[in-house]
Amino acid sequence: MRRRTIPAVFDALLAQHGPQGWWPAEDRFEIMAGAVLVQRTAWRNAAQAIQRLKARGALAAEQLAAVDSTFLETMIKPAGFFRVKAARLKALARFVVASGGVDALSRQATPSLRTTLLSQQGIGPETADAILGYAFERPVFVVDAYARRLFERLGSPDPLPSDFDLKADCEAEISTATNLNELHALIVAHSQRCCAAVPDCARCSLRLRCGYAAAAARCSA
Ligand code: SF4
Repeated sequence: MRRRTIPAVFDALLAQHGPQGWWPAEDRFEIMAGAVLVQRTAWRNAAQAIQRLKARGALAAEQLAAVDSTFLETMIKPAGFFRVKAARLKALARFVVASGGVDALSRQATPSLRTTLLSQQGIGPETADAILGYAFERPVFVVDAYARRLFERLGSPDPLPSDFDLKADCEAEISTATNLNELHALIVAHSQRCCAAVPDCARCSLRLRCGYAAAAARCSA
């Protein structure tokens, strides 16, 4: 997998799937909460939890910071792991309130904000980068299992670059927050529609540049 092929991958995925319109949310704290709720579940389940919180007027940092834990667990049950996620949401809300709000956080430089986010309960690199990219519009790439699998297959049989390289190379080649956010959304869409656990290479716009597809074609010839 060569770094300079990343823009071509982006263009091919965009042509195949179109703009994904991520992240569907009314404000930045909703994106932050969504990034926690979507951990280890499908977006439709996280979205259901968000709608339930919204319907109760509870989807704001101030409210979540003070909300009753049992009530919060009940509200977010559709997102799964509801006890863990309720504790994480509450901790995140308290952190935002203690920091002076989302606007105050938005004045932090990206490296410092990333470090701060990573120090919060239950926020790992994937969640921190999703928050940085979609809530704070910073030019960061979200490295997730889908991205690792896609680039591993494209570069097959060469070994996968380390997470740092995949992240750094995408950020170097794509550069704008808008396009990096789009790339992540496109990879998720592509991984769900084409490059799944059992890939559907015949429908894939990347098949002519994919080492995995080339090897599969040689085997079946
Ligand atoms: S050609 Fe197949 S393995 Fe390669 S990226 Fe497309 S779906 Fe995935």
